[in-house]
Amino acid sequence: MTPVLSQATIDRLRQIASGSAISHCYLLTGPAAAFRNDAIRLFEMLLHCTHKSACGDCVPCQRLETENDPDTLTLIADGASIKIEQVRDMIDRIKYGPTSNSFFTVKIPDAQTLTAQASNAVLKTLESPPEGVIFLLGAPSRAAVLTTITSRSQVIPCTPSSPEQISNYLLSIGFTNTETWQASPNAALMASKAGTKLPHSVPTLAEVLNTPPAQRIILTHPLGKSKDLVHICLIKWSEELWQSIQKNPTDPDIPQAIRRLDLLVENILQLRYNLNPRLHLDQILVSL
Ligand SMILES: [Zn+2]
Repeated sequence: MTPVLSQATIDRLRQIASGSAISHCYLLTGPAAAFRNDAIRLFEMLLHCTHKSACGDCVPCQRLETENDPDTLTLIADGASIKIEQVRDMIDRIKYGPTSNSFFTVKIPDAQTLTAQASNAVLKTLESPPEGVIFLLGAPSRAAVLTTITSRSQVIPCTPSSPEQISNYLLSIGFTNTETWQASPNAALMASKAGTKLPHSVPTLAEVLNTPPAQRIILTHPLGKSKDLVHICLIKWSEELWQSIQKNPTDPDIPQAIRRLDLLVENILQLRYNLNPRLHLDQILVSL
């Protein structure tokens, strides 16, 4: 579920969730939005899970996975910011606490986008939160959020996993370490299983990123025909990203590369459930 979170971060979240002293507000900081989302989602599942392990099998885990949990709410920016009206609606929803779980979790993965008014309203709620309500905030750094909010939060810096861990994870889902696309045995095997020929030229990720989003769809058009081709394409792009991360580990663009890798890996997993590969690929292309 969280191939890009470091083991130390996962262990820390696990330890807090299984302890008895649960605070009512946590601020998870990390470089990229997708990365923070992953950390917040994992933490929420650990808190709700009957076994405190994010097992994926118990009733609360299943409800979260199918987005059917009455005791969770996510606040995301309406336009460029999270507005006071959204916070008021949230306060109205949480006033009675959880209905079927031990906790009601309010997720604000981009807390830095709260307007000043909205921040103050959140702050008021943090001063006397309803019983059983836990706020899970995210931000690029603690400085991105009002100090009055951070002072009422437990701050958890989240770190990415080691290159070896990401590499092992990618290998386990069909990622190949081969130098070139054509030499990738997995890709050739998957293509032959799918009854398709490998397209002569699959655009590199750099080519895709240098193309405006609307034209990316034209550039990759032949690939959207089958789920296997989209799968191969995503694996190839992950591989390219991964190589560039390994080559320049101190590059200032690393957080963005991690976000993209995170997006690709998540979509490789989701592809299994998506019936329309063309639409799936189009959505990824505009989010990269
Ligand atoms: Zn569970």
